[in-house]
Amino acid sequence: MPVKWNLDNSYTKLPAHFYSKQAPSPVRSPRLVIFNHALAASLGVPPEPEVFAGNAIPEGSQPIAQAYAGHQFGYFTMLGDGRALLLGEQITSSCERFDIQLKGSGRTIYSRGGDGRAALGPMLREYVMSEAMHALGIPTTRSLAVAATGETVRREKNLPGAILTRVASSHIRVGTFQYAARFGTPEDVRRLADYTIERHFPGLTYPQMLREAINRQALLIARWQLIGFIHGVMNTDNMAVSGETIDYGPCAFMDAYHPATVFSSIDTQGRYAFEKQPKMAAWNLARFAETLLPLLHENQDEAVRIAQEEIVGFWALHENYWLAGMRAKLGLLEAQAEDEALIDELLELMQQTRADYTNTFRSLTLGGELGPAFAHWHEKWRQRPIEQALMKRNNPAVIPRNHRMEEALAAAGQGDLSLIEQFQNALRDPYEYTQSQEEYAKLPAGAACGYRTFCGT
Ligand code: AMP
Ligand code: MG
Repeated sequence: MPVKWNLDNSYTKLPAHFYSKQAPSPVRSPRLVIFNHALAASLGVPPEPEVFAGNAIPEGSQPIAQAYAGHQFGYFTMLGDGRALLLGEQITSSCERFDIQLKGSGRTIYSRGGDGRAALGPMLREYVMSEAMHALGIPTTRSLAVAATGETVRREKNLPGAILTRVASSHIRVGTFQYAARFGTPEDVRRLADYTIERHFPGLTYPQMLREAINRQALLIARWQLIGFIHGVMNTDNMAVSGETIDYGPCAFMDAYHPATVFSSIDTQGRYAFEKQPKMAAWNLARFAETLLPLLHENQDEAVRIAQEEIVGFWALHENYWLAGMRAKLGLLEAQAEDEALIDELLELMQQTRADYTNTFRSLTLGGELGPAFAHWHEKWRQRPIEQALMKRNNPAVIPRNHRMEEALAAAGQGDLSLIEQFQNALRDPYEYTQSQEEYAKLPAGAACGYRTFCGT
């Protein structure tokens, strides 16, 4: 496979106010901290440290900051790439197109009060989390590199600065459509929709694009919930129309099962709690559908009817994906009417006993016992035809546990990357059930309650 930049800049063909041309701000002493050789090879991207620190612009790149708006915790506001730049779209040897984006590369016209920079800890965290999600089989943006800048960023305290190189099938957000609808013309919305269809939904009509975007989110959210993932900040600007998980700020995996679990320090109302994720996705998709109304039908009453019907359709799609996923987690070979009751009863018991979400399913997969509270349920489940291989494919042996993540990031902050490397090795094949993964399946010594995540700005 040829290793060379092969960048296209198709986004710059959109009307000029969709983006702003901006070069990355050079940094003092760039140093590549972590580099994803496998991903680089699949993209055909050369390992050029200067590029991933923003000190050199790759051949063929026309760097831009993208404009977008969004509802943040329910409130609409103008946003845009305040600390990110799109270098361009790498076209792979199999003709796939991937955005190459620097995050933390300096100020842009959308920075508002921010410094345009990022700290090493949160960028490493995004790197590990997104790659773990990919290994878990969840659609997600990927991470190609983290480069230290040799500069300090001022947060509550001074922190080492870093830049993450993010790879995505695109960075078109629900908020990008909201930007076009609110600040642009109907023609702008049409141009963005046409561009999005070409990139993600080839051959589909506008209503079909809406339906398929909803379908992908229904699948994505179901899969988050099946592995116990909490995104933490599902604002409309953090929802990619492609159906990939995007923006790893305060996300975390749930330990003890409780549907109301929230980790994010800024989510004081629990808006994006574990169990609320489908509801918030549907809310975001309604905002998306609103922007498309002029395109859905020439008669606006009819357009509203179409939009509403599609949004309502989210629930059945989500429920089906979730139920099918739960059946697979329990190894159930055939669907039966009582499955939902069986699943609900298990979750209820897990909640009552504060059972660890991942390890409960891990134990079931390995044929272990769950304790006396589960005896009756276990008996019922065991009467069903069960396939262990199906369970192994659907219940990860390891997830990026919060205490392990913190420990690895703390060591990295001291210049020791060995813990991050070991952590990544354990997370590379989460459905393998190897002996070396067992250490990472263990819970922290004390109870992990009170774990808090931060947006990492
Ligand atoms: P997020 O919460 O990461 O989704 O970001 C919300 C908005 O704040 C986006 O427009 C970001 O580009 C912007 N932003 C976050 N951190 C910074 C920063 N350090 N400097 C400038 N803009 C930022
Ligand atoms: Mg964001």
